[in-house]
Amino acid sequence: MKVELIGTGAIYTKYNSACTLINDNIIVDMPNGTLKQLLKKNYNIEKIRTILVTHMHGDHTGDIPFFLKHVYSFNKFKNEIVIIGPKGIENQIVKLFNAYRFEDRKEIEENMNIKYIELEQENLTIKDINSYKVQSILVSHGEEKPAYGYIINDTVGVTGDSGICDGVEEIVKNSKTTIADTSLLEGDSCHMGIDNIKYLIEKYQKPIIATHLRDTTRERLKNDNIENILVVEDGYIFEI
Ligand SMILES: [Zn+2]
Ligand SMILES: [Zn+2]
Repeated sequence: MKVELIGTGAIYTKYNSACTLINDNIIVDMPNGTLKQLLKKNYNIEKIRTILVTHMHGDHTGDIPFFLKHVYSFNKFKNEIVIIGPKGIENQIVKLFNAYRFEDRKEIEENMNIKYIELEQENLTIKDINSYKVQSILVSHGEEKPAYGYIINDTVGVTGDSGICDGVEEIVKNSKTTIADTSLLEGDSCHMGIDNIKYLIEKYQKPIIATHLRDTTRERLKNDNIENILVVEDGYIFEI
């Protein structure tokens, strides 16, 4: 699997917000600015067939309408696009379309082949989403409920935004590498911190790629250079 970190930053940084693209065709979250980033890299945008949404915050969903509008406007809407996310994700995307005042939402919906899978509270394994095995795992993001992390093909884990919780541990345990929310120096109920990530690498002895980084956290991690915690730039690609 080819994994590209489109974004590794938090809202307040110059870095793109956390966003992960796998094999050019499955993407975890679409923060504001994602579409432009992909276009700048000359990606074949219509290859993206699956969007996994971790939760409804704007720095994870903001560009979904821009993406759909773009794909539609270039007449590349023949493939089915699957959007998986928390219960209410379809309605949330309608609300975003309305907020952005894109009047062609109905036309897009009627003509594009969009399939929504809305997650219930329990963890779910979906065996064949455009030939991927996708597991959704409930995580803990303060008052923003529900929030999910994902495991793709038993290989790559993505925690989404989360404090340390059973769900995060399950993701790390069952993946080869995890891309983990490491926003803070010290974790709280909304986001993990360096302390939580250290705990996870010691317990599970697996590499973690830090994302959703605030600048202070990024600097500290770069200075400390801790084995098995990777701090990378936007656009970092690896094979697993
Ligand atoms: Zn969030
Ligand atoms: Zn976030």
